[in-house]
Amino acid sequence: MSTNLPIAGDQSGDHWSAHYSIRAAGWTVSDVRALFAVASRPDVVSLAGGMPFVSALPQDVVQDAVSRVLREQGAAALQYSSGQGVLKLREQILEVMELEGIQAPADNVMVTTGSQHALDLVTELLIDPGDAILVEAPSYVGAIGVFRSHRASVVHVDVDDDGLDPGDLRAKIQATRAAGHRIKFLYTIPNFQNPAGVTLSPARRSEVLEICRANDILVLEDNPYGLLYFDRPPPASLRSLDDSGVIYLGTFSKTLAPGFRVGWVLAPRAIRERLVLANEASILCPSSFSQLVISEYLASADWKAQINTFRGIYRERKLATVNALAEYLPNLRWTDPNGGFYVWVTLPEGLDTKALLPSALEAKVAYTPGTAFFADGDGHSNLRLSFCYPPAEEIREGVRRLSTVIPA
Ligand code: PMP
Repeated sequence: MSTNLPIAGDQSGDHWSAHYSIRAAGWTVSDVRALFAVASRPDVVSLAGGMPFVSALPQDVVQDAVSRVLREQGAAALQYSSGQGVLKLREQILEVMELEGIQAPADNVMVTTGSQHALDLVTELLIDPGDAILVEAPSYVGAIGVFRSHRASVVHVDVDDDGLDPGDLRAKIQATRAAGHRIKFLYTIPNFQNPAGVTLSPARRSEVLEICRANDILVLEDNPYGLLYFDRPPPASLRSLDDSGVIYLGTFSKTLAPGFRVGWVLAPRAIRERLVLANEASILCPSSFSQLVISEYLASADWKAQINTFRGIYRERKLATVNALAEYLPNLRWTDPNGGFYVWVTLPEGLDTKALLPSALEAKVAYTPGTAFFADGDGHSNLRLSFCYPPAEEIREGVRRLSTVIPA
C-alpha cells in the first residue's frame, strides 16, 4: 500500500526522510551557503565568497578554444572518455606543475571534476567512519564538509604566520592515537591558505614531511593558489620534496575558470589506480568537453601571461584590503598574504563575528564568519575577507562599512 502521508516522527513533512542514509542525515546547509544569497545582492559589497575574477579572461580567447574544439574534435568532445582523463591534458598538467618544481609521469595524474571532487574521492578511498584526519585550524570549509560527510574525526592542528605548527602536529598525533583513533592523512593548504592566507615556511615543510613519514601518515597537499603569488613564488611544494608520501591536488579553477570544473590529483601509482576506480564509480569520466577546451586553451593561448594578469589584479586587491584595514580598523589583527584570495582577521576576544553578521549585512557588507572554517565551533572572534572579486575601490568601501559595525 502506498501513502503520501509523512512517516511517524518526521517533523519536516518529508515522506522519505527515514530512507536517507546515516551519512545524508548529517548534511546541513552551511552558514556560507546561506550567506551567499544575501551577499550576492548588488548593493552589498561581498567580501564573503572566493569567486575568481573570471571577467579578466579575454572572452575571444576562450571562445576560440571552444569553437576550435567543436570544429576539429567535436565527436571526441561530446563523447565519453577515459576515467583517468585525457592523456594530452594530463601531459599539459605536468607543464603546469613543473612551474612549482614538480616532476612526475603523466600516468600518475588523474583528472577530476574540480579539486572538490578529488577531495571527495581521496577521502572515500582512505576514510572509514571514525578515522582521524589532521586538518589546519582554520581550514577550507569545503574540505571540512567532505571529511564530515565521510564521518571522519577532524583533528585541528594550530596554524601561525608560518603555517602549520609542527610542534602541535606532533602533540595532536600523540593525543589522537592515545584516544584510539587511526590517523589516515594530514590535509594541508601550504600556499596562501584558505582562509588564513598564510604560507608554510620552507623549514616547516621539511619538518612536517619528516613527522608524517615517521608516523606513517599520508599528506594531502591542496594547492589551488600556488601560482597566484604576488611578490615571490612560494617555497617548494611538498610533493616536489616527497613523491611517495604526498597526494597533490591542483585545479584550473583559479588560474583559468571554475566553470570548467577541471582539477587533478597526482598520486603514487597504486593510489592513482584506486582513485581511477573511484572516479569511474562516481562519474564514469570527467567532462571530455571541458578537458579538451582547457587542453586547447593551454596549447594556443599565452596562459602564463594570463596567470600574470590575475596575479596583478589580486595583488592590487590584497593591498586595497590591508590598507583599508589599517585605515579603518587599526585595532584589529590581520594576516598579510603574499598570494591567493584571503585575509584572515582577528577581532578582540569576546566579539562574535557570527553575531555581528546581520548588522554587517544591514550596513551592506558581507564576510564569512570564522566558525565556518573549524570543525569544532572555534573561530568566533575571526572572520575571512575575500579580496578576489570586488574592485579595489569597492573593497575599501566594504572595509569602511565593516568598521561601522565592529565596536572599536
Ligand atoms: N581547495 C581549496 C583550498 C579551495 O579554496 C577550493 C575552492 N575554493 C577548492 C579546493 C575547490 O576548488 P575546485 O573544486 O573549484 O577546483
